[in-house]
Amino acid sequence: MYAVGLEKGSHGLVVREIPKPFIESDNQVLVKVLQAGICGTDRNMIRWGEKDFPPGEDFLVLGHEAMGQVQVVGPGVKTLQPGDIVVPTVRRGCGQCACCLNGQSDMCCTGLYRERGIHKIHGYFTEYFVDDEEYLAKVPTGLADLAVLTEPLSISEKAISQLRTLQLRVLWLARHQEHQPGAKEWGHGKIALVIGAGPIGLLGTALLRLGDAETYVIEIVGEEHIKVQLIRELGAHYIDGRGKTVEDIVAEMGNPDIILEASGASKLALSLMPILARNGVYILTGIPRGEREVQLDGNLILRQMVRCNHLIIGSLNSNREHFVTALHDLARLRDTFGSVLDKVITHRYHLLDYQEAFQPKGSSELKVIFDMQRQQ
Ligand SMILES: [Zn+2]
Ligand SMILES: [Zn+2]
Repeated sequence: MYAVGLEKGSHGLVVREIPKPFIESDNQVLVKVLQAGICGTDRNMIRWGEKDFPPGEDFLVLGHEAMGQVQVVGPGVKTLQPGDIVVPTVRRGCGQCACCLNGQSDMCCTGLYRERGIHKIHGYFTEYFVDDEEYLAKVPTGLADLAVLTEPLSISEKAISQLRTLQLRVLWLARHQEHQPGAKEWGHGKIALVIGAGPIGLLGTALLRLGDAETYVIEIVGEEHIKVQLIRELGAHYIDGRGKTVEDIVAEMGNPDIILEASGASKLALSLMPILARNGVYILTGIPRGEREVQLDGNLILRQMVRCNHLIIGSLNSNREHFVTALHDLARLRDTFGSVLDKVITHRYHLLDYQEAFQPKGSSELKVIFDMQRQQ
């Protein structure tokens, strides 16, 4: 079978013929890849030449966002059968730390984890893969066409679930039972700011809106961009950040109770820290590469953090529980906002057209996916 990935000694993506995997233990499952999404991490790995091959190999199959169909199950597999649609998780725990041993490999303490398509294990830009049952989440009927978004949504799910947990420190701020952090409309009465409207920012916006938070999204694109259209369809407000100062942004939206950073634009991200409302929570998910020197008023940032009880945290990766919640929320989002999420997938390519798939596509681009059933 063929696979697309990174090779030792060559620049950019290459296609290779690799052996089709087979089940080696009782709890394993053979999955045929139906769709796989391209993400900023893939682009960064190509651009920055980040290659973390499986031990003893000189090739890494890229891709960590996938949806597939179960072909064969081992005799010990209990919850899946051939024909089921599944999404695989990404991280494989270190097997040593308390977090990994308790289903929270996203919080791994040793850093010795592996990640499919990223660190030391092959990913999903290929035809088949084998994995343990515990790393596969079953897709409910009727959601197969959105399921490739489960992995990026799970990243936003983790960030939002961290946020809701942290809000437990000021419980009485939600005056009504139905707006407590654990309730469905937990965001009611809160103002949220999302920085960056890539897939993670936009899916985060969808979750904030699902929780009924008044949500503003800052980006640096014109009205014609698909991102702006989708922000509005989710009932959020668009802030065109081009040429705006921090003061302009506060004048437009007030002081946010929640900031979800999903751009990795460090200057903007840091300069917006002091605008957080009292007892606000700031969650960072964007990962900037390279170096960027910025000049900021450090005293202002620290002063506001202390005086206003600000919480600033980072959130990376997601565990199986976040995938399961994401699948549940895909259905809720479709019920609430109609076909908005279907529009997040803007381009589809056959895997062998990978060069074309990775080309930038301007204002019509959001999520590009490989669709294995598509004609080349
Ligand atoms: Zn990704
Ligand atoms: Zn660990």
